[in-house]
Amino acid sequence: MTTRFSAGDDEIRSALGDASVVALLPAVAQLTGDFSILRDDLRPDPTRVIEPEGGLTEAQQDEAREIAFAALQRFRDGEAGGVGRERPTPEELGRLMGFVVSPPNVEEYFDLLREELAVAGEDLRAPGWANDAGHPFTVAIVGAGMSGLLAAYRLQQAGIDFVVFEKNDDVGGTWFENTYPGCRVDVPNHLYSYSFAQGEWAHHFSSQDQLLDYFRAFADEHGLRERIRFGTEVASATWSDETATWTVVTKDGGPREFNAVISAVGQLNRPSYPAIEGLSSFAGPAFHSARWDDSVDLEGKRVAVIGTGASATQLIPEIAPRVGRLTIFQRTPNWLAPTPEYHEELRPGMHWLVHHLPSYGQWYRLWLFWRTHEGLLPAAVVDPEWDRGEESVSAANDLIRQLLTAYFAMEFGDRPDLLAKVVPAYPPIAKRIIRDNGIWSKTLHRDNVELVTGSIERITPTGVVTADGVEHEVDVIVYGTGFTASKFLTPMQVVGRNGVDLHERWAGDARAYLGITVPDFPNLFCLYGPNTNIVINGSIIYFSELEVRYILESIRLLLDGGHRALDCRHDVHDGFNKRIDDANRSMAWGASKVNSWYKNANGRVAQNWPFSLLEYWQQTRRVDAADYELL
Ligand code: NAP
Repeated sequence: MTTRFSAGDDEIRSALGDASVVALLPAVAQLTGDFSILRDDLRPDPTRVIEPEGGLTEAQQDEAREIAFAALQRFRDGEAGGVGRERPTPEELGRLMGFVVSPPNVEEYFDLLREELAVAGEDLRAPGWANDAGHPFTVAIVGAGMSGLLAAYRLQQAGIDFVVFEKNDDVGGTWFENTYPGCRVDVPNHLYSYSFAQGEWAHHFSSQDQLLDYFRAFADEHGLRERIRFGTEVASATWSDETATWTVVTKDGGPREFNAVISAVGQLNRPSYPAIEGLSSFAGPAFHSARWDDSVDLEGKRVAVIGTGASATQLIPEIAPRVGRLTIFQRTPNWLAPTPEYHEELRPGMHWLVHHLPSYGQWYRLWLFWRTHEGLLPAAVVDPEWDRGEESVSAANDLIRQLLTAYFAMEFGDRPDLLAKVVPAYPPIAKRIIRDNGIWSKTLHRDNVELVTGSIERITPTGVVTADGVEHEVDVIVYGTGFTASKFLTPMQVVGRNGVDLHERWAGDARAYLGITVPDFPNLFCLYGPNTNIVINGSIIYFSELEVRYILESIRLLLDGGHRALDCRHDVHDGFNKRIDDANRSMAWGASKVNSWYKNANGRVAQNWPFSLLEYWQQTRRVDAADYELL
């Protein structure tokens, strides 16, 4: 039901001052039914979607706010024609979306965008079926983080029995485990949330505690906790062709039989400690960023942080003002994406809009999706004619290099010594780009902070020795050295048909079909499995939602057809992986020699999805029975 409001003119004007006008006009048009405000001359420029307001000039933005204000005034005052539909018709939705997204795209993306928009909270990715016949089918979900909770919720919606095994004592996964100072999401929160539970966020990029609260509330609201066995780590899962079941053994018990297993263990879960000589000889406290030790008081201490990835660059600025001396060991510098709002709260007007224009948050999400999702991918594609080596991989990539280099020059121009250390020598997008609001430069400029770029030779009881022979004496070492991302599903033992062991099969080179299924492992489904990570384009929750839909469709295929299991065909799996590998080789992260967690020990990119988001949506939307042997 569309409800009118009674706010005064000043209140409305003030809120509109904080609005994103690209989201504002469709939200107002939807509320008021006045589509005439979606003027062509106020549309974002399709070639400038990367900019917050899509290249609209200040004058255009003022004009947009003015017509939105007038429409809201008419709506408030109940003037004729001033009411829209809470659920626009498909034709109306097409017109509203067509304002945000350029017209040739809107048709191709319409159904995908409709799911992402989730107008009036509709949940178009929910299973459109239920196990009304009560087929006995039980699923084990391993992990109660973002993707495990989602799988549990979807199975619950479909009336499929399940148990979630969670090694921790609470839900949240990565948001439960990573408690280091400064931990926050680096994808805008309006996107880093379930499409059907978008939430109201206080910040553009929420901190760890807020995200943990979101996932806790989700579990509580849907009664998922009762289905989760906390403090229970799965040790092994073994398939039997005879019974067509998985036998799951947990570290403290079992066995228990399930018809299917969903792995929701994440890729960035098990800390990776560097193979540095003498590591264990250090006499002081030493811990990993993902195992933050609150009992260690850093006040006034000499602290070393090894690594400068996404985790370390968040925690370093937080601890720098507290410690006595901070020595940062950087092996490879990062490209920085200027993000002024990174630590900012949403402006009060944004909250007003969310409360008074019910669809504003949804249109804001859609605009963010369109701005940040597909647009950047072409800049990661290698142009075979381009010959700038490790500098850049194409003209578009080089343009990004120039823009980001200019940012470094601005931030570090007064310190040539630092500038020389912080500008990467590899192409942008070959590694994850770090968001920055100026804090990195501010931190490195501090008198008590030193950036060491020489390689580490060994660790002694009292410090870190670099290749130049200098011993950097410290009291505490923090390892910001990432995760064993390539070791998918470890340390769980997984045994499939004919006794084949998953880790022996993979031999350190994990592969799956669509990142989800693996031949000879029937009814084993992976979430955030091999080649489902994204580097610059989007939110991992998007992938989880599509993967979970695919899994639910697989279960439906089994139940409807009276099959016991599905097993991915080898040729389908191999063909898919060849395509993935070919494409990844021609992406910045595959072509560049730079080291990153995207590559496994063989140098193969086992993490990243090299295609568009639309393509993953198209490939996972339905399950093709021909891809599987049905048992
Ligand atoms: P990471 O990106 O793998 O970074 C590890 C860091 O440790 C790198 O700087 C690496 O250097 C360094 N390192 C590793 N071994 C080393 C050694 N032997 N000697 C010296 N340095 C060494 O790990 P992360 O920072 O934990 O981030 C992992 C991923 O988690 C991110 O890419 C992101 O996807 C996710 N994440 C997200 C957020 C967020 O949303 N805010 C926050 C944290 C993490 P090299 O670069 O040379 O390898």
